[in-house]
This record gives sequence, C-alpha cells and structure tokens, in this order.
Amino acid sequence: MRTEEIIRKYEKYIMPTYTRKNLVFSRAEGLKVWTPEGVEYLDFFPGWAVSGLGHCHKRVVRAIREQAGKIIHISNNYYNKLQADLAEKLIQHSFNGKVFFANSGAEANECAIKLARKYGGGGSRYEIITAEKSFHGRTMATISATGQEKVKAGFHPLLEGFRTVPFNNLKAVEKAITEKTVAIMIEPIQGEGGINVASGDYLRGLKQLCDERDLLLMFDEVQTGMGRTGEIFCYKHFGVEPHIMTLAKSLGGGVPIGCAIAAEGVADTLTAGNHASTFGGSPLVCAAALAVLEAIEEERLIENARSMGAYLRKGLERLKDEFSFVKQVKGMGLMLGLELSKECKGIYEQAFKRRLLINCTQGNILRIMPPITVTKPEIDKALGILSEAIRQGV
Ligand code: PLP
Repeated sequence: MRTEEIIRKYEKYIMPTYTRKNLVFSRAEGLKVWTPEGVEYLDFFPGWAVSGLGHCHKRVVRAIREQAGKIIHISNNYYNKLQADLAEKLIQHSFNGKVFFANSGAEANECAIKLARKYGGGGSRYEIITAEKSFHGRTMATISATGQEKVKAGFHPLLEGFRTVPFNNLKAVEKAITEKTVAIMIEPIQGEGGINVASGDYLRGLKQLCDERDLLLMFDEVQTGMGRTGEIFCYKHFGVEPHIMTLAKSLGGGVPIGCAIAAEGVADTLTAGNHASTFGGSPLVCAAALAVLEAIEEERLIENARSMGAYLRKGLERLKDEFSFVKQVKGMGLMLGLELSKECKGIYEQAFKRRLLINCTQGNILRIMPPITVTKPEIDKALGILSEAIRQGV
C-alpha cells in the first residue's frame, strides 16, 4: 500500500491527535528504521524512549515469541510467575517495596496519585505538589498534575488537588505545603519540559521535607528510568530514594507496560478492590520487560549509557563551541538536550531530511536520546548529520 493511501485512511479513520510526518515505517532493527521502500533512517529518539534498547532487541524479540506461544494474558485474579519475577527484579534494582503493573506512564502515575490520596486518609490530605514544565501524562489526573498549560487547554474543569511550583526551587515547595498536602511529584530530569536536571540539593531537600511532614516523595521516572541516564534509575545519581517511583517507556523494550513501585510501609495502602488494570502485568509484557532487564545486566548497558553518554556529550559540546546560538548541553547519560537561543524546528527538519530522527521540545531544545545500546560509529554519524543540519537549518 502506498504512503498516500495509508495517510488517506488515517485522515478518514484515525482521530487527528498527533502531528505526523508523511512517512511510513515498516521495519526496524537497533538504531535503524526503514520505510517500505527501504529508505533507512537513524533513530536517535526511538519512540520517545520506548525502544530504549534499540528497535527489536534480540532478547526482547525472542522472549515475546516464546511467551506468545505459551500464554499471552491471564487475569489478575490469578497468579503468573513472570509478573512475580519481574516485580522481584524491579525491587532488587530499586528499594524495598511492592509493585503495581499498568500499561503506560500515565496509568503508572494514576496509581501513584490514587495511592497518595488514600495514604492521606481519603479526603483529609490530598494535595500533590508538582513542578512547572513537568509532564506526567494525558489522562485527566495526569494533565491536572502536569505543569504545562498547553496540555490542559480545553479540558477544564481539571481534577482538583494539584499545586504547581517552579522546578528546582525548594523554598517554593516549602511555601506551597499546606495541612492538605500529601505528596510531592517530580521528574528527576524533566524530559518534555526541556531536559531540566534536578539539583542534588533540591532532591535531598525534598526528601527531608517529606520525612519531616509525613509526605510522599514520588519520582516520575517514566522517561529517565531503565538505564537512560547512566544509572538504572535516575534517583541513584543523587542518593535520594523516593517513596514511590513510576516507570514505563523502555521498561518493556517496545511493548506497553508501566508500573508504580511503592516503598514498604506505603505500598499496602492500596488493598483489594482499590485499583486494577485488566491488561496490567500480563505474562507477555512481563516476559519482554524481564528480557530488557536481562539485557541491561548481561550486556553491561548501564556502563555503555555512561561511556556513550560522555562521548555524545563531548560531541555536542563541540557543536556548542562551533555555533554561537547553541547555549548549552543539558542532561545526563544518554538523555541529552542542546539548548539554542533560537527556535530548533529548522534544525530538526534539516536533520530529518538527512534521515536522522531527533526531537525538538519547548521550541528551542533539541532532544537527543539514542538507545542505551548505541555505539561510537552511530554517534559519529549522528553528530556529522547534526552539524550539517545546524549549519543549514538556521
Ligand atoms: N511521565 C513522563 C515523565 C513522561 O515523559 C511521559 C510521556 O512522555 C508520561 C509520564 C506519560 O507516559 P505515557 O505516554 O506512556 O502515558
């Protein structure tokens, strides 16, 4: 089927909620994606961080194939070994506690929000403090939590009980706390917000505030998790353990899975009948996520994220030195951004023309997040294209 025909069907049958390029992809492997005609693109922004190990990672493909022939889904009214094994692995990698499995980042955050409200006594303490420029998803609760007006426009009235304050500003959080506050919800690095890294002092200060006032510290690691920043979870860079952490995106290596992990003493707040997800934690997606963790452990991918992150950063710093309108390189590991003093759309388009996929967020931040399996030659190739794209795109 020709591209124009596919686009015509989209226009007729699919709600127009996305801005799309006039391009069809039909096959992918590692950092390469191909159109049906065989035109190859280099993917430095694979599915907004979903394909964190690259497209169709061999272990993930094998696990899905094998599991699909055994049992794909079983209701959560029964037990399945893979969900138990995955929860155990996630806890071993994070902190003592328990896991709830959902299907996406927004749903993982919904669980965290509901848990916090119940922890607050079901109505006495329910306010959650979030940050300006944050992004937590597109459900009603998560757009209410999100600190960006553009995602809320047209959907009022929102869910009440969220207070949004400037990011990286401890005093602002302290001032926003009332007798109704129950939690603080933060991304350790704001992705959609423009690759804004939280400071260690800020996160440590938040933890102290939470400990002093019996508040829950909730880290949304939907984008930063699973090795992207050079630690399995970003909070580990700062030594600040949250009470709740949410994950999704690259957790399943491409299949839809999200989860909320709550610390011991907090996790049992939600009890039977309080929360559910029909698809949550099915054997198929858990098999894929277990394969992702196995790859991270056995292929030394955290180390790769660190060393390739440093290598890519160096290359981006060179671009900063070369072009005066590149203001700074932001981020950690392989979650990097180039902040420009002008719009980045032209550069993004030039990169796309040269078949490099990246992202432009907040108007002036080029977001670059290759899979944590990326190699030096792939980075060199991307930097070459990016340099040319910057030269042409301004
Ligand atoms: N939280 C963060 C930090 C995100 O970056 C995103 C998506 O970009 C979400 C939550 C929402 O995830 P999903 O689109 O899987 O619902």
